[in-house]
Amino acid sequence: MRALTLIADRKLELVELAPPPPPGAGEVQINIKAVALNHIDVWGWRGMAFAKRKLPLIVGAEAAGEIAAVAPDVTAFKSGDRVVMYGALTCGTCKACREGRDNLCENVGGVLGFHIDGFARDLLNMPARLVMAVPATVSLRDAACAPIAFSTVQHMLFDNARLEPGETVLVHAGGSGIGTAAIKMAKAIGATIITTVGDDAKAEKAKALGADHVINYRTERFEGAVRKITAKKGVDVVFEHVGAETFNGSLLSLKRGGRLVTCGATSGASTTLNLMQLFQQQYRIIGSFGASMRNIRESLAKMAAGIRPVIDTEVSLAEFERGLARLESRQVFGKIIVQF
Ligand SMILES: [Zn+2]
Repeated sequence: MRALTLIADRKLELVELAPPPPPGAGEVQINIKAVALNHIDVWGWRGMAFAKRKLPLIVGAEAAGEIAAVAPDVTAFKSGDRVVMYGALTCGTCKACREGRDNLCENVGGVLGFHIDGFARDLLNMPARLVMAVPATVSLRDAACAPIAFSTVQHMLFDNARLEPGETVLVHAGGSGIGTAAIKMAKAIGATIITTVGDDAKAEKAKALGADHVINYRTERFEGAVRKITAKKGVDVVFEHVGAETFNGSLLSLKRGGRLVTCGATSGASTTLNLMQLFQQQYRIIGSFGASMRNIRESLAKMAAGIRPVIDTEVSLAEFERGLARLESRQVFGKIIVQF
């Protein structure tokens, strides 16, 4: 079977590997059909000195596929079922896992495609408890965006920031994979959306997705534009993932008591904070990483209800690296999908 492996920083190799053995107790075997790319793939590809992992490593952190075989003790799935998989090997037994807070598992065995072998291969075996069925009306291409992109947004906006209908949210990088999903999900509950983009062509596309106000951050300071748009009030929620370049401007964009939720730092990991401003303005800053299995099911249900991911580009497995370079360059509008 084919597998795409990271052999050194910024160096991928497509190799032939022996297929996995028949699924063991509690496992299913999955035939991967689509992998969606995320910034975690870019970090892994560039190399991260502190990440505990061994090369070569099979890449791919978010995917959809079809059940190829099931262990005799697995009754929840059968061959041919269309599925997505949770992207980390959680233990399933710790307090966090038992309470459905999978992304806080105390004994997590690593993130697939980052710490341990991922999804960019024809076949893999997974515990059936980490596998979820895809609704009949959702394509596997779209479903591949549920385990990370959609579920991260679902977790950030609704579990963490508790965005309510009628509130205003600032979504950074409205053309990114998670930015496009955030615009659509916030719009669907009746929030007002302000978003930032890096060029005017993306501004039009963001409006078409449902953004009420679009700011080109290259020609205008976004925090000033937000004050103007909200008549100096500020927004209820900021959806952050840009990091150092935007973080303080994001805090300035909040109204008193506003919530900032962040899941990324693509522009840099360190910044300074004005602590007086933090407590006087009663801001809530919430870190968010990954999502729960419930969030993935909620994401698939939203897709079935018509909130489909925005697809920027589809590439073949051999073109995976081209997809990563496109993601790194911030030229994207939506998700990049690797088709098998
Ligand atoms: Zn656990």
